[in-house]
Amino acid sequence: MGKPFRFKQMLKSVKETLEKIPEHRRGQNKQYELKDAGLSALSLFYMQSPSFLSWQQDMEKKRGKNNARSLFGIERIPSDEQVKNLLDPVQEKDVGGPFWAIYHGLEERGQLDGYRHVGETYLVSLDGTQHHSSAKVHCEQCRVTIRGEKATYAHQVLLAMVGAPGQEQVIPLQPEFITPQDGHEKQDCEQAAIKRWVKEHAKEFAPWDVTVLTDDLHCHQPTCELLAEHEMYFILTCKEDSHIALYEELALLERVEGAIGSQSVRRWNGRYHERWLYHWANSLPLRRGADALLVNWCELTIVNEATGERLYGNAWATNHTLNAATVQDVTAGGRSRWKVGNEGINVLKNQGYHFEHNFGHGKAHLSNILLCFLLLAFLMHSVLHLTCERYQSVRKALGAR
Ligand SMILES: [Zn+2]
Repeated sequence: MGKPFRFKQMLKSVKETLEKIPEHRRGQNKQYELKDAGLSALSLFYMQSPSFLSWQQDMEKKRGKNNARSLFGIERIPSDEQVKNLLDPVQEKDVGGPFWAIYHGLEERGQLDGYRHVGETYLVSLDGTQHHSSAKVHCEQCRVTIRGEKATYAHQVLLAMVGAPGQEQVIPLQPEFITPQDGHEKQDCEQAAIKRWVKEHAKEFAPWDVTVLTDDLHCHQPTCELLAEHEMYFILTCKEDSHIALYEELALLERVEGAIGSQSVRRWNGRYHERWLYHWANSLPLRRGADALLVNWCELTIVNEATGERLYGNAWATNHTLNAATVQDVTAGGRSRWKVGNEGINVLKNQGYHFEHNFGHGKAHLSNILLCFLLLAFLMHSVLHLTCERYQSVRKALGAR
């Protein structure tokens, strides 16, 4: 392992990104304040205290110095109103830089080595979720859901997270925002966002260095082809009722002895014995028709050995080769999406990140930009947790974030 990643180095990449954002205001150069606004938003999420900045303003008045400056390099603390006005016009893509700078920094230091899993690849979960849901506050970018007489406004985002079985920390990558124009159905919107994310960011990874994980909704030919075109592996949940052609083929193979691979492993869970049953088959059609993409398929069923009770079951389609040596890793990779996805969603909902701070929603990009700063704060915490022993001991003493 290389040298630990320091807070200051991560902050530097955020500052550099903020300094490069095109000035949207006319008149004299106010670059400096835009940087302060961005760092202020980051500091709130990082310190996990909604009143951090007002304390610092008080401290500045009383003592002429404050932690916002000494820790985050904020020259002049802007008011909430200023933060809102300055960040609202900033484009989401303009704050993506630090996610990649930090990711590559971790990689170069060898600190992501523990995240290499199936076929030595990194597992990247792509999960759509919503943030900033409200019955009142909204902006032009909101997706509106009407139930009866009531309207709910929310923003949707595709979270990209690196995780691995056995790794506690989740590493968020640059998210992709789902816009209401993308389509009317959840599936269309997320699909368009996945496409943009892959096209935009595949170049950040070496060829065949990543395995993408998604849910069943995206386990179809366009997504699989898109990923393969960009030299990415995939392990996608593959349910029977949404993949009829594949399961019909599988039913035919069942009649041929040895056509479907199987493996059974006995595991002790601390209380009783579990039986882990693996099945797999290679080169099955993902859909009907002569042009159907051929994928590999596997499933895992876990039962209580004594009672026969089914404890878990899931199936996946993948372009990793399946055999007795790989099936356990592929299914473990597929299963890890659930944990990583939940982790991402939890960040948005709780864990002390105070997303619902009184910055509000803005008119254009504010709520999405704030989400980016929240994810950056989360990323910085994950990195420190992963690489800094001092931070680890502080966390141990203080408990969860
Ligand atoms: Zn909105």
